[in-house]
Amino acid sequence: MSKGSYVLAIDQGTTSTRAILFDEGGKATATAQVPLTQIYPAPGQVEHDADEIWRAVLQVCREVLAEAGAGNIAAVGITNQRETTVVWERATGKPLANAIVWQDRRTAPLCAALEREGWGAHVAETTGLVIDPYFSATKLAWLLANVPSLAERAASGEVCFGTIDSFLLFKLTAGRLHATDATNAARTKLFDIRSGTWDARLMDRLGVPLVMLPEVRDSQGDFGLVAEEHFGAALPIRGVAGDQQAAAYGQACFAPGMLKATYGTGCFVVANTGAEKVASATRMLSTILHQREGRRTYALEGAIFMAGATIQWLRDSLGVIATAAESEALAERADPKSGVYLVPAFQGLGAPFWDAGAKAAIVGLSRAASKADIVAAGLEAVAFQTRDLLTAMRQDMAVSGIAAAHALRVDGGMTANAWAMQRLADILGETVEVAATPETTALGAAYHAGQAVGFYGHDAALARAWAPSRVYAPKMTEAEREARYDGWLEAVSRVRSEAAP
Ligand code: ADP
Repeated sequence: MSKGSYVLAIDQGTTSTRAILFDEGGKATATAQVPLTQIYPAPGQVEHDADEIWRAVLQVCREVLAEAGAGNIAAVGITNQRETTVVWERATGKPLANAIVWQDRRTAPLCAALEREGWGAHVAETTGLVIDPYFSATKLAWLLANVPSLAERAASGEVCFGTIDSFLLFKLTAGRLHATDATNAARTKLFDIRSGTWDARLMDRLGVPLVMLPEVRDSQGDFGLVAEEHFGAALPIRGVAGDQQAAAYGQACFAPGMLKATYGTGCFVVANTGAEKVASATRMLSTILHQREGRRTYALEGAIFMAGATIQWLRDSLGVIATAAESEALAERADPKSGVYLVPAFQGLGAPFWDAGAKAAIVGLSRAASKADIVAAGLEAVAFQTRDLLTAMRQDMAVSGIAAAHALRVDGGMTANAWAMQRLADILGETVEVAATPETTALGAAYHAGQAVGFYGHDAALARAWAPSRVYAPKMTEAEREARYDGWLEAVSRVRSEAAP
């Protein structure tokens, strides 16, 4: 058994930086949080100040360690916003530009060029991804082309590239380690997830020199020690994983076929597909769920752009609710036969329709329609979109002979809404299980680090310890479920752009 009573998890997210202490039972016993400044230099551009992130990490860790004592920490785990791209000076750890955040669209023209040049098949086959500005590769290429002298300095080995985990590892170890884990590497669009190596062809096309890339390590294992100067003790860093992969780990999705969905601003569904990379026929992403002892476990991932964001729109733009939580009581008052559908294609339609030109709409309004009906339709849209996504994912999994679980583990802010979760179970026709801890992402990082030092038991023990706080079983009749879903597909067909097939 390891020394220490807690694992320290660092959760560096898009909007905040948090430190959480977890005890042996996986319970969060202390939390500190600092919000993160969003920098918008131009429309479609989003940046973070990496130095601000580092200062926040120091602050939140010191805050929770002041309560527990650094000597009481068995290991440190890191989870982070993925794809966000940092470049820093190797000699000093100083960032050489603002970090370009995953949401940033400035590299759309470069992505279009890659598409025209026919890189799509190579990207899908090696990285498991699609060509999109979302991923790090084109952001890094942009920095190399636009930050004065960066390309020359990078070629001579003076500059490090990394995602946020990598930058934090470098800072925490006082520059001793330039590394990342396989889950984060898998989101750069420079990493061959089949062989676990950087892809020379993509690096060459994008002008990325190998010397600036981090060493890729297991998600669970040795990431060196936190330099003593930071927290007064040399704490071992033993786990690193990107946020969605960490959440799946925190949800104990250890077996092939298991699924989790996180309902925040958007929704991310991740399915464990086991030891083989699964190719998707519906542009779902293939990625690495975790890597342990050199062995990779793969995942399929799909996203819904507008989940909680639809509720924000109902609140902030339409003004039909004052708080997100109010949506629950209103939905309960909605007319179940209203026939109102809200298709939240505010950013086009994502998987499996992939119609960027589609526009959002509320359809099926009658004179009797009320704001309650519209709010219910907004919540129900999240359930329909989840079904769209799961259907596509299960098809991909079936082709590879993987039996998908018929229960969905869920977490995130929207899971507080009992009406929405019941409707999700009803529209899916399967059980929805809400995680006991709202901190599944941080817990996943803690599990990785804790398992590495023997603080937590093996997978089977963690799987047994997993217990939902609430379970929703489907109550709707099959006939009603299918009728409603047909209505959704009909509503979706009405918002498709003419360009779509
Ligand atoms: P993120 O991590 O993306 O910021 P959270 O997991 O904190 O998201 O969830 C916040 C989102 O969940 C917001 O978009 C909010 O509108 C939505 N949300 C929060 N509470 C509720 C609720 N009771 N009903 C419906 N949506 C909710």
